[in-house]
Amino acid sequence: MELACLDLEGVLIPEIWIAFAEETGIDALKATTRDIPDYDVLMKQRLRILDEHGLTLPQIQDTISRLSPLEGAAEFLDWLRERFQVVILSDTFYEFAAPLMKQLGHPTLLCHRLESDAKGRITDYRLRQTDPKRQSVRAFQLLNYRVIAAGDSYNDTTMLAQAEAGILFHAPQNVIEEFPQFPAVHNFHDLKRAFVDASVRELSL
Ligand SMILES: [Mg+2]
Repeated sequence: MELACLDLEGVLIPEIWIAFAEETGIDALKATTRDIPDYDVLMKQRLRILDEHGLTLPQIQDTISRLSPLEGAAEFLDWLRERFQVVILSDTFYEFAAPLMKQLGHPTLLCHRLESDAKGRITDYRLRQTDPKRQSVRAFQLLNYRVIAAGDSYNDTTMLAQAEAGILFHAPQNVIEEFPQFPAVHNFHDLKRAFVDASVRELSL
């Protein structure tokens, strides 16, 4: 049995924090896991910047409500779901992802949660577990699934390494160079081909 695990931001949807940074004009919010590999360091920085500017969860959700999946993402996901059981493993938060998941047909999503107070200030974040993407792949393997995973950034690399096959998609050059063991593709057509190649079944494009 084969399972496909996909990263979310940068693979199927835009980077939420970058979209919010552009809307607010706060450049410091543009940092992502591509820039700061330690997610705790990155999230603490983001929450500090939100506080400094008095920005709330409803304001971020308002930005997100105007975002769409990346071009071709919904069609790719439909293609993948016809051939694999698909689980999305993300370091985003359910409070952010909901409107975009609706546009993707509500695929299974494992991610984190935010805590906010009555005024909408984000007070904290709850990571589901440490190294959640790799732990999820491990757990699926214990259920006798063979996992093919795809992601674009540092926070995907342990997932890609744990999976039976890992694929870099839309990854920046520094990640591609640092992780030459993973094939790197840049469009959905090539990503489909990479999944077909990585599968032990005879799949068609
Ligand atoms: Mg990503």
